[in-house]
Amino acid sequence: MGLLDKAIAWGEKKSPWIIHFNAGACNGCDIEVVDALTPQYDLERLGILQQGSPKHADVLVCTGAVTLQTRDRLKQIYDQMSTPKFVIAVGTCACTGGIFDSCYCVTGGIDTVVPVDAYIPGCAVRPEAIIDAVGKLLSTLDQKEAKGK
Ligand code: SF4
Repeated sequence: MGLLDKAIAWGEKKSPWIIHFNAGACNGCDIEVVDALTPQYDLERLGILQQGSPKHADVLVCTGAVTLQTRDRLKQIYDQMSTPKFVIAVGTCACTGGIFDSCYCVTGGIDTVVPVDAYIPGCAVRPEAIIDAVGKLLSTLDQKEAKGK
């Protein structure tokens, strides 16, 4: 691994930039994601920064069950992110489709469209759980690096 690659890998672990996408949530989980980003929890102190463009983001934070209306947009956002990229499904709806799973316009959880690296069940998810999931995801990257994967 060259010096530039090492620097990029270090930045991804120490300062992951996230993008938030609502695939069809009731907004309950979105409010909790926003709460995690605001000064009370202050994710920025951990180097986690919200981005508006998928091209600048490392982690896609998704809420809600995927609907026919948002399915293609979710795939487009994921495809625009550079690798390595990670997806976190926030809330029971994002994990499995939740109470909306059998609706005619719902395809299911986020993993029916893009691969998911971390699932956070709950309705709605607490900000502490979101922060914990991001931390665990980053420690997984550390372990993979230590194993040389
Ligand atoms: S898990 Fe609950 S709060 Fe979150 S989007 Fe689904 S219904 Fe809303």
